Amino acid sequence: MRVLPTVILLAAIPRCILAASAAEVGDQVEHISLDAAECYRILDLNFAKEDLKIYLASGYLIFAKPIAGAHLGAIFVTSEVAGDADLLLMPPSRSERSSLAKFTGSPTLEEHFKAGAFIFTDGTGDQLFEQLQSNPAAKKSPDMGGLIVERWTSVLANLVTSFETRLVYDILSDRRDNGLFYMAVSGVKLDNFDVLYDPTASDQILAGKLTYRDNRSYFDTWTSFQARSFRSAAASGSAAPPRVTHYALDNIRIEATIAPDLAIQAVTRATLTLPERQPRSVVPFSLSPNMRITSASIDGRPVEVFDRASLRANLISNQDDRQLLLISDLPLDPSMPHEIEIQHEGAVISNAGNDVYYVGSRGTWYPRTGVDLARYDLTFRYPKTLTVAATGKPVEDRTDGDWRITRLKTDTPVRFAGFNLGEFQSVLVERNGYTINLYANRRLESALARKPAPTVAVPEDQFPHPRHSIPADGLAARATPPDPAPRIENLTKNVIDTLDFMTEEFGPTPIRNLAITPIPGGFGQGFPGLVYLSTLAYLDPGQLPPQLRERAEETFFSDLLEAHEVAHQWWGNLVVPASYHDDWLIESLANYSALLLLERKKGSKALDTVLDDYRAHLLSKTAGGQSLESAGPIVWGYRLESSLAPDAWRTVTYEKGTWIIHMLRRRLGDEKFLSLLRDVSSHYHTISTEQFRELAHKYAPATPDPDLKIFFDNWVYGTGIPAVKLSYTWHAMKLSGTVAQREVDDTFTAFVPVEVQTGSKTDVYWLATGTDPAPFSISLKSPPTKVTLLAANCLMTIPK
Ligand SMILES: [Zn+2]
Repeated sequence: MRVLPTVILLAAIPRCILAASAAEVGDQVEHISLDAAECYRILDLNFAKEDLKIYLASGYLIFAKPIAGAHLGAIFVTSEVAGDADLLLMPPSRSERSSLAKFTGSPTLEEHFKAGAFIFTDGTGDQLFEQLQSNPAAKKSPDMGGLIVERWTSVLANLVTSFETRLVYDILSDRRDNGLFYMAVSGVKLDNFDVLYDPTASDQILAGKLTYRDNRSYFDTWTSFQARSFRSAAASGSAAPPRVTHYALDNIRIEATIAPDLAIQAVTRATLTLPERQPRSVVPFSLSPNMRITSASIDGRPVEVFDRASLRANLISNQDDRQLLLISDLPLDPSMPHEIEIQHEGAVISNAGNDVYYVGSRGTWYPRTGVDLARYDLTFRYPKTLTVAATGKPVEDRTDGDWRITRLKTDTPVRFAGFNLGEFQSVLVERNGYTINLYANRRLESALARKPAPTVAVPEDQFPHPRHSIPADGLAARATPPDPAPRIENLTKNVIDTLDFMTEEFGPTPIRNLAITPIPGGFGQGFPGLVYLSTLAYLDPGQLPPQLRERAEETFFSDLLEAHEVAHQWWGNLVVPASYHDDWLIESLANYSALLLLERKKGSKALDTVLDDYRAHLLSKTAGGQSLESAGPIVWGYRLESSLAPDAWRTVTYEKGTWIIHMLRRRLGDEKFLSLLRDVSSHYHTISTEQFRELAHKYAPATPDPDLKIFFDNWVYGTGIPAVKLSYTWHAMKLSGTVAQREVDDTFTAFVPVEVQTGSKTDVYWLATGTDPAPFSISLKSPPTKVTLLAANCLMTIPK
């Protein structure tokens, strides 16, 4: 499972009385217009937003008419004959410089531009405006203004509309410290691109470009990093001013009615805690695009709901839910909790054929704010022919006429709550304090049965099947379609084995009720107390469609998927990533946990076979002729899914990540490695990549690379799969030689495992590689009988 994108992280703001409704402000934003009378001929107007420097050497700057008293937009253009402007951005880290170079050809962004459109809620617009009023060199140029208005009004309006919710939020909240600065640049070399400074984001500076390729749009993030003041605050240990608001919901009560046509009508009630000491009236929420809020109240008083699309803001932040606002006419007292009630409705369930159901928007079907753990109380009312499975412990299950009512509550706070439904048969098992409910469909969905299938969109952000999409022709060739039910016993046994194994290795999870449920498609997802498992995982290997009957596919659906998703009860629900840079760690730990179990059941050969496949995928080439692994360091997270390498995100996150954990295990040894994992699961709720490295340091051998900095620099923060050649001689009781690497750049250094046998004794030495062959010398008491590079323990290739 990929962790849900962080929900809204907008600014924190006081506001006493709102002069206008959010809808009115939104209308003004949508109809923003440039003011020909406020067009200035400018020379050398320079300004900076932290690391981002903008030099408007000569040209025209025209402001939009103020909204709510503030200058929120402006356009800069150079004149036809002359004029110049440029923009400078230097990323502070090697990895960010290499990201920028990959997309733009240069490790720094230094671009001349002919035009730029600005949006600001941080006060920059007002500052520039005031500066020009007091600058005698700035001459008003209304004629030029008229031309610019004609050409640029719609451009600015489009851009502003695509940030509408954020702008309305900032305007209504009336504070500039947390406002945003955005610029759409029309560059001389790089064409159109975006730069953004947002103090409420975890990486405040961002540059990138909206691209379109093979009928898909991408936002290619060229670079994104912490702004200078945040970096120096972090380095000096002084706390940066809290820029990120922290709304919290708890005691979330959802009553959902699922109609026979699968439409949902729900009311979500919750206790809302405000972030700071100041009163506020605007609360941001996120929700699936397939749901809409029909009404809402806070403390029993109706509130305004502001809900409009903000496409660009969502693309840049990689969010598939959308942001909306609840606006109270009275300020909310931050010293006390508030009761919110939101009525919402929509369609997040579809029929995949044969009455097999697909639940979409699995983490966004109810409104959320903040990212805290919460307790849930869920009630579902639905046609009595169906069964609902969900996060939590069932506390009520009854029928009422044609309806069935199922209610569940969580014993402990969890990250989010999901549900699934179908015409299920089920098995209930009590084991080691866990209550496991395993649900299976009674039939196959159309895609797998004989009837032609309505297509079900498979989301790309979950643990997907490695190579094939789900076959369209399904199992059409078979005389009778297979029945998903018989494997239910096997699956039950697998789930028990997985829970036993992982509880023994990592300790028990606080969530003791686990529902395993089917979902059409080639993926799975592990929610707290609820696992979605590809319907293919319910088939016996022999029943898989012919295209999926290869060894690797069988292993994926029969062995790995279920264990990977159950492992998310630990990695993903108990321990969560600190930011998108750390998502890989959670996915890799979940996947490696599944591989540890595979190894326990089927031996180390089975583990090595999967890792060999992963290595081959990582070395496979993109359309541009580069290896998938070279798309970027694993810590780039979702940014790896760019127009340059659409498939790289999955392969690097899951498969290279699994290799990284495997190499770490080989470096630490099994016992210390498992202690490390137990340490992570018992001490961390959120964990960053650096925290993980520091913890691993405690378990690492004293040599080489005791703090694992070289290991992380190359494998985690860098790219490269070295081709390694070992040369050695035995002379004067010494084994000496060199280790040479190719296919990686000169700065790459790995320690590779070399197994030396002397008589009946076997030792593993970790030797440094180098582009200039790195020499080594090992004293031995007797001549070696065998010296081998262990490719099974290191992500490398050994050319013949
Ligand atoms: Zn996963």
